[in-house]
Amino acid sequence: MTSFADLQLALPIQQALTEEGYTTPTPIQAGAIPHLLQGRDLLGLAQTGTGKTAAFALPALHRLLTQPRHASPKGARVLVLAPTRELAAQIDDSFKTYARHMKLRHAVIFGGVGQGRQVEAMRRGVDVLTAAPGRLLDLIGQGHIDLQDLEVLVLDEADRMLDMGFVRDIKRIVALLPKNRQTVLFSATMPKAIEELAHSLLNDPAKVEVTPPSSTVDRIRQAVMFVKSEDKRAATLMLVKNDKVQRAVVFTLMKHEANKISDFLNAEGVRAEAIHGNKSQGARERAMAGFRDGSVKVLVATDIAARGIDVDDVSHVFNYDLPNVAESYVHRIGRTARAGRDGWAVSLCDAEQRAWLKDIEKLIGKPIPVVTDHPLHSDEAQNSTMRPPVLGGGGRGRNQPRGGGGQRPGGGGGRPGSGPRNNGGNRSDSRPSGGRPGGGGRPSRPRSK
Ligand code: AMP
Repeated sequence: MTSFADLQLALPIQQALTEEGYTTPTPIQAGAIPHLLQGRDLLGLAQTGTGKTAAFALPALHRLLTQPRHASPKGARVLVLAPTRELAAQIDDSFKTYARHMKLRHAVIFGGVGQGRQVEAMRRGVDVLTAAPGRLLDLIGQGHIDLQDLEVLVLDEADRMLDMGFVRDIKRIVALLPKNRQTVLFSATMPKAIEELAHSLLNDPAKVEVTPPSSTVDRIRQAVMFVKSEDKRAATLMLVKNDKVQRAVVFTLMKHEANKISDFLNAEGVRAEAIHGNKSQGARERAMAGFRDGSVKVLVATDIAARGIDVDDVSHVFNYDLPNVAESYVHRIGRTARAGRDGWAVSLCDAEQRAWLKDIEKLIGKPIPVVTDHPLHSDEAQNSTMRPPVLGGGGRGRNQPRGGGGQRPGGGGGRPGSGPRNNGGNRSDSRPSGGRPGGGGRPSRPRSK
């Protein structure tokens, strides 16, 4: 999705967007608008600043333009519920802006001011009514508003409305609306109460989630452990066995490594499944189903395979290998702390991947806290100045000779010993090696996503 033209919004809307200087839909817009244009209900997880207002306002305006009719007196075709007067006023403003090339009847209703003008504004009916729940109920109760003809209901910042004690008001309002309507719920977080509300209000909703990368990172507690490469498995086992780990994703650079770690964890009594590009669709789906229903505790995944992981309650992400592309780190750890929950992301860093850690810290703009009080801590890894291997795209690391001696045939079995590595070393377990016999070839890692 590259432009608003791709979204096929009516031309007057596109024109307003161009004038506002909007060239590209934000992710929540790109994700939500197509579903809303199709008339589907939608559950959107997005915070202020993500462009969520336009995500629900533009499809609503498109409906008004393409299905013109007069709202009935005291009625509204679109109702947006918002927790505060400020937000309600802001939403109303946004509608005005996007509707500047169409005729829009709109009103905004909130408490703390006289009701006379609000009543007057509603007398002939409006296309879009934006309201705080309390005053809206008042005016409905007084017979000034009648929402029997409503077509679209939007709840914006639903979590804040619940926090502010509006849940009963919302339910009373919804009870007065026609059942045959489109319902859209936006929330920045997804506590149980919102899940329940969404479940009761939405009919087979599409779900769209965006969290700005920085705020994703904020909710995720991150740590790095410096370990020798040959200790990474033991470290992984130690991590996944922790009681706090409910569902974990372990990331590796390579497919065969994912298999080996999965086998190792299973042999150690931890239910694990590997998912990567060499697995059949069926095998992946089975692994994901097990992960979802809790019978599989750990998914061991490569970056590409991880794109399909859409599970809300991943409690931990463990980076067995750090990614060589810093952005992948943000994508990886974004598998946890979804839907408003907290999460942990713990990375294992050996001497060779030390430089990648620096790249990641530069990208996220802060150092990742180091945990040293564990039995596998390695000063050598922490203080390493080694150049990392160059991966992917046919590139071969300068310290990575083609199919050199000492490589493990078949890619199976244990580590290639714990001897010291140097620039000519052939650690074949966490880096690609086009020439490794039976090793599954070069990993198919994205350089970026
Ligand atoms: P919101 O998250 O709805 O509060 O929007 C945040 C800000 O982003 C508002 O100032 C919008 O005007 C602006 N905005 C929304 N969508 C876009 C877009 N596609 N391109 C540029 N700015 C946008």
